[in-house]
Amino acid sequence: MSNTNTIAVEQAFDVEKIRNDFPILKQSVYGKPLVYLDNAATSQKPKMVIDTLCRYYTKTNANVHRGVHFLSEKASHEYEETREKVRQYINASSHEEIIFTRGTTEGINLVAQTFGRQNVREGDEILISTMEHHSNIVPWQMLCSEGRATLKIIPINDKGEIIVEEYERLLTPRTTLTAFAHVSNSLGTVNSVKHMIEIAHNKNVPVLIDGAQAMPHYRIDVRDLDADFYSFSSHKMFGPTGIGVLYGKKSFLESMPPYQGGGDMIKSVTFEKTLYNDLPYKFEAGTPNIADTIAFGAAIDYLGALDFESIQEYEHELLEYATERLSAIEGINIIGTAEHKASVISFTLEGVHPHDIGTILDREGIAIRTGHHCAQPVMQRFGVPATARISFALYNTREEVDALVNGISRVKEIFA
Ligand code: PMP
Repeated sequence: MSNTNTIAVEQAFDVEKIRNDFPILKQSVYGKPLVYLDNAATSQKPKMVIDTLCRYYTKTNANVHRGVHFLSEKASHEYEETREKVRQYINASSHEEIIFTRGTTEGINLVAQTFGRQNVREGDEILISTMEHHSNIVPWQMLCSEGRATLKIIPINDKGEIIVEEYERLLTPRTTLTAFAHVSNSLGTVNSVKHMIEIAHNKNVPVLIDGAQAMPHYRIDVRDLDADFYSFSSHKMFGPTGIGVLYGKKSFLESMPPYQGGGDMIKSVTFEKTLYNDLPYKFEAGTPNIADTIAFGAAIDYLGALDFESIQEYEHELLEYATERLSAIEGINIIGTAEHKASVISFTLEGVHPHDIGTILDREGIAIRTGHHCAQPVMQRFGVPATARISFALYNTREEVDALVNGISRVKEIFA
């Protein structure tokens, strides 16, 4: 991108204004300004999310759905309001298709344990990709071992892209479901999910998308994608931890058995027979995470007010700048060079263990992640035990990339 274009993007997208919304970014760590580059693990929270949590516990706290009193009705109203905000935000057809979960992981487990158990028979296949997070591997492994089905794996190429022809070949009449990430947390690859969903549907195979890493960077329209299930976490999209969403098409959710039993997921209970509640409550047993759900609503408001086109341009430019600067450092090897990437750069540095890179950068106030990123099969595919990973959010800057590059020079000096 030319300099003129860069300036135009930066003017359209006022990163300083955004940074002001995130109080945590103002602090220093070990006497250095905090440079937070671990957004794929979890994002920071804008003040309006933090204030909503505080306001909820100061003014509203009560249990939902059961009370006749003022506070319970208010809490129920705000809780359900978030469901409606999410519905609108992802363009689902109905609030019945929005199931609150603890996060992406729970959403995937829910589908494996309900839809999966109901439909997987001996000899059937579940198809996932090499680049999946453990949370989109292990629930399917558990299901397959229970039902004597087989887990099939779509290979990826050396750039870290799904080989779509192999995907197509691996979808067979035995495939009960295919599940893959929209965006890889370890490589940054953005998969062509709409196209891949179309291919699966042409073979009558339902699709679950792990949207954990896509939601903070893209405006997702589940109807346009035609996803059957789409699972994501609030904490990666500037909302609180402990709350997430499983979107599911009503036709699937209606025919699936409940996930957990308990209060709220029932219409009536006798010792002889229990009648389950309607959607979405059939899948929400017990007292939910009320406060965080309501504060998640504030995160959706925050995201909804942003211009995603300029965010995407800005983040793309930042990714290109960081890739260029890191690639210029001798000894750095970037793992994951897909044509379409979101804000993640995984790398190794010759002669230095990724954990040492992370520890030295930490002393410079720079937070990155090192390890296998809950994607050990990806590490095996690329023949490395671990990588150092930086991941951007909309509040990161070119100056922070420069600080990172200086920090890596420091690492090299120490290990020279
Ligand atoms: N899938 C991907 C691609 C992820 O990056 C993560 C979080 N690192 C998860 C699933 C799991 O998300 P959570 O821990 O919020 O359930």
